[in-house]
Amino acid sequence: MTDHFYRDTWVEVNLDAIAYNIEQMKEKLPESSNIIAVVKADGYGHGSVPVAKRALEAGANALAVALLEEALVLRKAGIEASILVLGRTPPEAAPVAADQDITLTFFQEEWLREVETYKLDKNLKVHMKWDTGMGRIGIRNQKELKQMLDALNENPSIYLTGVFTHFATADEEDLTYFYEQKERFDAFLAFFKEYWPYEVAIHIGNSAASIRLPEDMYDFIRFGISMYGLYPSGAVKAKGEIDLKQAFSLHSRLISVKRIAPGESVSYGATYTAKQCEWIGTIPIGYGDGWIRKLQGASVLVDGKRMPIVGRICMDQTMIQLDREYPIGTKVTLIGAQDGDVIDMDEIANYVDTINYEIPCIINNRVPRIYTPNQS
Ligand SMILES: *Cc1c(COP(=O)(O)O)cnc(C)c1O
Repeated sequence: MTDHFYRDTWVEVNLDAIAYNIEQMKEKLPESSNIIAVVKADGYGHGSVPVAKRALEAGANALAVALLEEALVLRKAGIEASILVLGRTPPEAAPVAADQDITLTFFQEEWLREVETYKLDKNLKVHMKWDTGMGRIGIRNQKELKQMLDALNENPSIYLTGVFTHFATADEEDLTYFYEQKERFDAFLAFFKEYWPYEVAIHIGNSAASIRLPEDMYDFIRFGISMYGLYPSGAVKAKGEIDLKQAFSLHSRLISVKRIAPGESVSYGATYTAKQCEWIGTIPIGYGDGWIRKLQGASVLVDGKRMPIVGRICMDQTMIQLDREYPIGTKVTLIGAQDGDVIDMDEIANYVDTINYEIPCIINNRVPRIYTPNQS
C-alpha cells in the first residue's frame, strides 16, 4: 500500500480493528440501519482509501467525507460505493460531483438555483441538511424546507436521495439537549413526508448517538471515530456499551543512545538537566510530524516500560530518558501497545488537553502509514 520509506518512524493502522469495530456496531444496530463509514480528513489520519476499502468489505454500505476533493481521492482509487460529501461544496463543482456520482449536501435555495445554471450530464444526487440544534449548517425551519422542496420539484436533474441532521451533545452524560434535537428532527420529518412522497435515506447519528441509541437511527448511521476504535467521549466509554479496538499506533526507533553526566542538559533552552548519570535516547519524530511540543514530559514505551520525554521536543527529533543502555534501532512505541503496556489515544489526548479525534489527524503525512495485516 505504502511507498517505500527510509525513516525510522511510522504509523501502523490495523485494518482488522476497523473491521472488528464495524462488526461490533452492526451487532447493536437493527437490520434496517446500515453503516456509512466516515473517512473525512484522510480517514481521521488513518488513510482514507485503505480504511474505506476495508470498511466496505466488513459491511459498511456507503462512505462519507467532508470535501469533494476527499471524495475524488476515493473514486480515483477505484472505489465505487456511494459517497456523501458532508460539507458545503461550491455550486460550480456540482458538474464534477454529478459526473463522478458523488452525493452532495445542500441547505440553501440559492445553492440549488445556482447549480441549475450549470450543465449536468448526469443527475446530481443530494442530501438535505437540517439544523436541529447544532448551529452549524442546515435549514432551520419548515418555511425553508418547503421552499427547498419546491425548488427541487422544478428541477428533475437534482435528485434528493437523503435528509439528515447532526447532534451536538450525543456524547455527553446528559442527553436532554439531544432529545430536544431529536424531537425537532421528528417534527421536520413529519412535515417533510407530507410534501415529499418519494423514498429518501434518513440518517441522524454519529458514533455516539449510534452506540447509545442504536434503535433510533433510521436508515443509516454515520460511523466515524468509533470505527477507528476510539470512544467519542469518556461518558460513552464509561458506559461500556460497545467493545472497540484502536486501529492506530505510532512507532519509532532509537537512533542515538548516550550517557550524560550530572549537570548536563538536553535540547533547546536546556530546560532539562540530569541530576545523576543517565541514559538519553533520541527518536526521529518531532513537531514537524505533528508530535507537538506540548507532549514534553509524556511517556513512550521502550522494552514495554514507560520512559519520559525530556527536554523540548524539536521539529524532527525528541529525546527520552532511558532506564539503561539500549541498542540503536530499539523500537519505541509512542501510541499503542508494546509488551504488555499500552499508551492509548485517550492518554495522549488528555495529556495535551484535547479529544482523541484530534491526535491521529495531527500526526501528518510526513509519517508513513503502514497497514496490517500486510496487504499486497
Ligand atoms: C464527522 C461527522 C460524523 C462522524 O462523527 P463521529 O463522532 O466521528 O462518529 C458524522 N456526521 C457528520 C455530519 C460529521 O461531520
